[in-house]
Amino acid sequence: MQPHYDDNDIGAGGTLARLGDAGAVLTYLTVTDDLVGVLDAELSDEAARAQLRDEQAEAARAIGVGNQIWLDYPDAGDWDYFALRKRLVAEIRRFGPDFVLTVDPWLPYESHQDHLRVGRACAEAVMLQSLPRFASDPEVDAAFEPRDVTGIGFYFTREPNTVVDISATRERKHRAIDAYRTQFRPEALALLHRGLEAAEREWAREQAFEFGEGLKVLRPGHLHVNLDPGV
Ligand SMILES: [Zn+2]
Repeated sequence: MQPHYDDNDIGAGGTLARLGDAGAVLTYLTVTDDLVGVLDAELSDEAARAQLRDEQAEAARAIGVGNQIWLDYPDAGDWDYFALRKRLVAEIRRFGPDFVLTVDPWLPYESHQDHLRVGRACAEAVMLQSLPRFASDPEVDAAFEPRDVTGIGFYFTREPNTVVDISATRERKHRAIDAYRTQFRPEALALLHRGLEAAEREWAREQAFEFGEGLKVLRPGHLHVNLDPGV
């Protein structure tokens, strides 16, 4: 579950490609329409949206993403947190993911409200979806059964407790990121690749592999009144 069309791939593309290779069905849910990040101010919203979707499809082929869900909330808009939380509960009840990945809303100095609200709403939705009296979408709720979400992994985190070996998949991750031309000029993309490579090497520094992705992985039980002293 991501705020913008490229967050999953930049934050956890190597991990997601590995999960796909291992047989997982990958579904991306993108909350906003991402139009604010489009570089060309003259492009119509319709044309920009089509371009973003094409680029996302190109990236998805590199990573192995099977399904895309778009909620089309306005990028950097003043949309309602609680409406999003309800929608995410409905999507979890509808699709029943085993595991959810999203941005870490507790990243120090993260100031983008889309990241803060999507990360928090996603965490809260994972925690609330199993409670039958929590109302989401009436059609979904009519067939309610609690989903066994085993955990949540936050990327763009300063406090990873898990480092995934992405040595075999990082080339595909970086190829996926190259698809995002509508929002990154070539020099910005080059900078992003360099920054990511430094982070991937740093995460793997004390590991037996060369490139890693750091994630904060929690069980749903950690997301409310957490008494586990190790977290
Ligand atoms: Zn983002």
